[in-house]
Amino acid sequence: MARELSLNTGRKIPQIGLGTSRIPKDILEDTVCLAIEKGYRHFDTAFAYYNEEEIGRALKRTFEDGTVTREDVFVTSKLATYYHSEDDVYPACAESLRRLQLDYVDLFLIHSPLSLKNPGYFTTKSGIETEYLERDLKTTWRAMEELVFSGKARSIGLSNFNSQQIDYICEGARIKPVINQVEVNVRFPQHQLQKFCEERGILLTAYAPMGSPGHPKLIQQNTDGKLPLLKDPAITKLAERHGKNPGQILLKSLVDRNIVVIPMSTNPERLVANLQVYDFTLSDEDFKIISGMEDGIRQFARPAREDHPDYPFRIPF
Ligand code: NAP
Repeated sequence: MARELSLNTGRKIPQIGLGTSRIPKDILEDTVCLAIEKGYRHFDTAFAYYNEEEIGRALKRTFEDGTVTREDVFVTSKLATYYHSEDDVYPACAESLRRLQLDYVDLFLIHSPLSLKNPGYFTTKSGIETEYLERDLKTTWRAMEELVFSGKARSIGLSNFNSQQIDYICEGARIKPVINQVEVNVRFPQHQLQKFCEERGILLTAYAPMGSPGHPKLIQQNTDGKLPLLKDPAITKLAERHGKNPGQILLKSLVDRNIVVIPMSTNPERLVANLQVYDFTLSDEDFKIISGMEDGIRQFARPAREDHPDYPFRIPF
């Protein structure tokens, strides 16, 4: 079972969650049930993954068979980039809840600061290209706060926001974000953003903690000809030394930094292994090796969105 970290609201979050984007739909329900059986208590989804219904079915199954109760699990979903208008936030969250068959989500994040025009309510799949919409993110945040006041979300947060955007949201906020979910791994460790967030009581959640090897497009584009992270000799040697698999080393390096991690796996052995990172210690020497792997290359840079006025990655953090 994963340890829990404290959010700035006093609520707890299991430090290791299951990422669910790109888990094939036909195995998702069973994968989530298996994950619960094996000790996962935290699930990360989003409208944009178009998989909330399968996750909802799995949760319902495990509530009904008594494996867990609603209070035992922590579910994160996200506000899609089309629904930043203040009038769209509540219906977007309500639709996520309907698909998840839940009364509340534990955490609702603004998936990205990049607002796009609403393509219509919930009839189409995610991933549609629509026009940019310049929108005051503070207005979106005020509507997010209402989700907490109305009990639809226990906590609210951000994803893919840079430091300036975080401070803009925090200025005058009635509820502070608890989390910023961003790309973090040993090659892109986000030390500056983490320090900045820590000073404001905000935790980081690391997406792509393994370098997202299931995303071949990203790997080919952005790794500068290097081996995928899981095959990097620095990591495989550490794995051998500790009797762990490379993925566990990558997760451990983040877990030890007080970062929440949401690795995705559809493989039962790796899924279980990814929870088992509390039974060994990385030494200062190991961390020196890991620090040497930083290359500053952001895989999820989303260059196609560079001309959006709220593109978050123009500044270093
Ligand atoms: P990831 O977790 O870094 O990588 C997942 C891949 O790693 C899968 O292909 C998996 O393959 C493999 N893997 C998992 N554990 C392993 C291990 N111990 N050893 C070897 N291989 C292992 O990348 P990700 O799925 O892109 O990111 C994780 C989650 O973050 C997503 O599922 C999603 O929930 C979230 N996310 C959020 C954003 C955002 O904008 N907020 C963006 C991207 C992702 P097998 O299935 O074969 O094990």
